[in-house]
Amino acid sequence: MSRDDVKIKYTKLFINNEFVTSVSGKMFPTINPANGKKIIDVSEATKEDIDVAVAAAKAAFKRGSEWRKLDASARGLLLQKLANLIQRDVDYLSKLESLDNGKTVADSVFDIGCAVDTFRYYAGIADKSCGRTIPADAGLFSMTRREPVGVVGQIIPWNYPILMLAWKWAPALAAGCTVVLKPAELTPLTALAVAALAKEAGFPKGVVNVVPGYGPIAGQALALHNDIDKIAFTGSTVVGRLILESAAKSNIKRISLELGGKSPVVIMDDANIDEAVEIAHNAIFANHGQNCCAGSRTFVQAGIYDEFVKKATEMAKKRKVGNPFDETTQQGPQIGEVAFNKVLRLIDTGIKEGAKLQIGGTRVGKEGYFVEPTVFSDVTDDMTIAKEEIFGPVQTILKFNSLDEVIERANSTTYGLAAGIVTQNINNALVFSQAVQAGSVWVNCYDAVIPQAPFGGFKQSGIGRELGEEAMKEYLEVKTISIKLPTNVSEAKKQ
Ligand code: NAD
Repeated sequence: MSRDDVKIKYTKLFINNEFVTSVSGKMFPTINPANGKKIIDVSEATKEDIDVAVAAAKAAFKRGSEWRKLDASARGLLLQKLANLIQRDVDYLSKLESLDNGKTVADSVFDIGCAVDTFRYYAGIADKSCGRTIPADAGLFSMTRREPVGVVGQIIPWNYPILMLAWKWAPALAAGCTVVLKPAELTPLTALAVAALAKEAGFPKGVVNVVPGYGPIAGQALALHNDIDKIAFTGSTVVGRLILESAAKSNIKRISLELGGKSPVVIMDDANIDEAVEIAHNAIFANHGQNCCAGSRTFVQAGIYDEFVKKATEMAKKRKVGNPFDETTQQGPQIGEVAFNKVLRLIDTGIKEGAKLQIGGTRVGKEGYFVEPTVFSDVTDDMTIAKEEIFGPVQTILKFNSLDEVIERANSTTYGLAAGIVTQNINNALVFSQAVQAGSVWVNCYDAVIPQAPFGGFKQSGIGRELGEEAMKEYLEVKTISIKLPTNVSEAKKQ
């Protein structure tokens, strides 16, 4: 299988259930990270297109529209149909994802499976979002209703294109919102293919819209738009800050942010060392290190430190880097030239600042953006590679002595997305999981994300939660309705 076998069906904006060229007629190239060459040109959304897409989503949300008249259970049925269609097309979608993103086809298949699970979970809870009744007071019978926020702008990154789309669309549509999604400019192709499936599933026109384009142009226009009631953003903390500013400058739209991380994985010396090496390896090397919750600081207790470093290095040495379409490949290219150069620059900084390079550190091959699986030992907290998000296949191993010490060091970051601990001692696991400042804590596993459980960040890793019931609440307003009780009823209540 090669890239030439992947036929690209959609390259235009998807608005009102139609593929349309952009108002300006502008196009932008999407690049194959495995060889640095253009795959195809895609229509570029600018402010004018965002206006058209938002108007479509607004009309679809209008009172009395086909979408608004649907029962919640019918919305769930549409989500279920979309999940089935994605499942049907997994072969094609996974190859398209790997072509555009560079991840292995096996990884794309896995991501798509998770996306399908996400749509199915929200299909199931679409009609289970209930309000409350409130004990009568002041002669009032009060109750709450949960109503969709309205028109939602969604901006996603390139590292999990289909999965991020599912995390955004599924709760928003289950809640009854309409959406305008801007995929990352580096990976626009699969979002357009899934949009076509949404139409096939039967979503009314204007309910989902996809507008590929650049962040500072299309993304910013979405974040500033006064007819967007909420922005859901996944990406860097720098851009998250800009989104907050745009919301403040415009209509104080609701916000949820999923941002970066520098997540600790703690290996206690009571752990089964081979299991711990594997968990820590996958925590950082999965998706080429391009993972917001990557376990990018591996803390190892002093008693097993040297042996751990040796085994972690051996494991990284075996990792097979190469063509994402080759079934034996474990690691494809980094997403693009900018990210590739950043990873190599940070590796260089690590060496200059005195970390010990155990393996890797250079590019693989002469074309594309492949980086050797890299392991640093003797890393200290003050080094740049222990502080900055590398977003690449670089394991940094730090030494610690006591649990109290490692908790303190694990928490000394502006981020708080995830954390892991590997231990056979339940007390270590309990103390750590309660004390660490992170939205997700994994014990004797890592990256164990399921649609039923909320995911999101403490501190500068974000605001709000994705997945689980929590994510649906992000797309719902709470309305209180109070009804004056007749006097005889309120008197009876007082007795
Ligand atoms: P990025 O912030 O540069 O881009 C993310 C998205 O924002 C893209 O669609 C981009 O076009 C858009 N964007 C860029 N500038 C914008 C602007 N001024 N206004 C509006 N939109 C704009 O991030 P990236 O490089 O694509 O992704 C990597 C980052 O995302 C990492 O920091 C990573 O940790 C984070 N991330 C977080 C999660 C999570 O769930 N917490 C998941 C994936 C990635």
